[in-house]
Amino acid sequence: MMSVSLRRLIIVPFFALALITGITMYFVATTTMSNIADKVGLQYIHEVESRVQERVRSFMSPLLRIVEVNQQSFLARPNELNDLSKAAIRFHEQGMPYRQMTFISIATSDGRYLTSVQPPVENRSHHIATNFVHKPLTMEGFEYDPMVGIGNKRQQDAEFTYDPRLRPFYQSAVGSKVPVWGEIERYYGYDALGATLSAAIYDDNDELLAITATSVALNALDEYLKSLEIVDGGYLFLAEGSGDLIATSSDTELFFTQDGESKRANLHEHQNDFFRLAGDHLEDGSYSLSYNGNEYLYYVHPVNFEYGETWLLGVLIPEAYHENLLSDYNRSSVLITLGLFIFISLLGALIAWYIGKPIQLLSAATSNKRLESIQALPESISSVKEINALNQGLKEMADDLSDVMHNLEAKVAERTILLQGENETLLESSIKDELTNIYNRRGLKQGFNRVVGVENEQKNSVTLVLCDIDHFKVFNDKYGHSEGDQALIKVAESLKMYSRAGVDIVARYGGEEFILVFSNMSLDHVLERLNGIRQELKNTELAGKERITMSFGVAHHESSDSMQIEDLINKADEKLYEAKNGGRNKIVS
Ligand code: GH3
Ligand code: MG
Ligand code: MG
Repeated sequence: MMSVSLRRLIIVPFFALALITGITMYFVATTTMSNIADKVGLQYIHEVESRVQERVRSFMSPLLRIVEVNQQSFLARPNELNDLSKAAIRFHEQGMPYRQMTFISIATSDGRYLTSVQPPVENRSHHIATNFVHKPLTMEGFEYDPMVGIGNKRQQDAEFTYDPRLRPFYQSAVGSKVPVWGEIERYYGYDALGATLSAAIYDDNDELLAITATSVALNALDEYLKSLEIVDGGYLFLAEGSGDLIATSSDTELFFTQDGESKRANLHEHQNDFFRLAGDHLEDGSYSLSYNGNEYLYYVHPVNFEYGETWLLGVLIPEAYHENLLSDYNRSSVLITLGLFIFISLLGALIAWYIGKPIQLLSAATSNKRLESIQALPESISSVKEINALNQGLKEMADDLSDVMHNLEAKVAERTILLQGENETLLESSIKDELTNIYNRRGLKQGFNRVVGVENEQKNSVTLVLCDIDHFKVFNDKYGHSEGDQALIKVAESLKMYSRAGVDIVARYGGEEFILVFSNMSLDHVLERLNGIRQELKNTELAGKERITMSFGVAHHESSDSMQIEDLINKADEKLYEAKNGGRNKIVS
């Protein structure tokens, strides 16, 4: 089975987890981002539109209210039309709070005209103009007089013939009981556009008495649009349904002079590419416009006024703006992800270290298979409870095992001594003859090798004697096997008696045959001893006062150099054979 380190086991999943989270977050962020980009763009564009729309409405609203008030007022008190100087006071006061109220006027059906004038562009003061004070249908300018309305004549104003009944503001309102919007036009003599609302005043017999009108200069709206800080490369415009511009956020002219006539700038043929592009889509809605490989969001929405006037408000913004915004956001989300990634990995590493370190310690202590290294572990190796418990358990186990081992060692030592004794006994018994307690054949061989080993060094003589009891079968038959055994024991004792203890070897070669080995002893001395044995046997009474004799075959070798026991035994056997044949109870050497 594949083995993996604990640290890797913890760090790798943490790392993988962090990586997967990071990648997922990145992809989610990126895909969400492109979805959000459009939504944010639309949201933003709608917001701009509604803000501007509100401003436009509040800008235009006094126009509507003043016309309505004046219409109602003249309807209620048609006598005022007889002396328009009172109207001068009202008109002046109505215009005062609103700088954009260029003209607030009344024109009677008999051609008299009075207006409160606030020039739209030039810094000329608020004043009154009429065409009836000195000469009928001759326009003159007057200072405003709060007491009487029409004050002193203004010298700087040019006089000219003026019949209001020929003017569009008058004609457009004839025949309608409700106020009527006139065309948006460039003011005569001023670099400004004006929008006019006119209302007819009829008497009870539906006889037209007068037309009251109010005109608003739109340059304030134009300035307002310019003052709005929308995104770089973004544009705002106000236009009529025909595409004729009313106001824009760009520095573009709203009208120009062609062939001596003043012409309105139109979206469809505008010098600004975006405006021209926008001119192709004047239906209420949002559009995605493509220009020069760049995408723009475009929203056009109607601005409706009472009495049937509708303008269009357009907002254009490059989509790159939101994408940039969002890519910033994306960047920060990637940074956050990266931070998280590092944090999680560090956390993993920390946990791995926290858990892995003590376990590594345990692993190292156990891997060398020595109890001491486990016992040498500190009491506390980790703040993790389970790991510490494992450490304690291991240490206790090691202590127990160590005790057991010491006991075992003591027992083994004891047992070894015992076994050694038993072994020695066993060894002893394995080389001794059970019956006679002298060496058996194995003992003989061992003893011989020992003697010959020493002899080999000293190169001294060795004598091997093969002894066989004479007619022992007869003895056995006569007195029984057990008495035969007793005889064998007695023979062994006699043999031992005439050999040097610890030097010479006395062995039972088999049955009633014995071997004696004398080292470093002359043949004469050997023969002397053998005769001693014969004498001893002669003196030893056995069962039925019987005595036994033995025949001896002697093999003497002056030097034990390269001496083999088999050769000596064979030679002794030959001599024994001779002794037997020679009448038994003999020593043949
Ligand atoms: P000889 O050697 O003089 O030719 O005659 P023998 O009767 O000794 O001849 P043999 O070697 O054939 O017989 C040996 C006898 O020794 C046979 C057996 O009954 C007896 N014998 C051998 N081993 C034992 C023993 O362990 N106990 C007893 N009681 N008798 C044994
Ligand atoms: Mg025999
Ligand atoms: Mg015999």
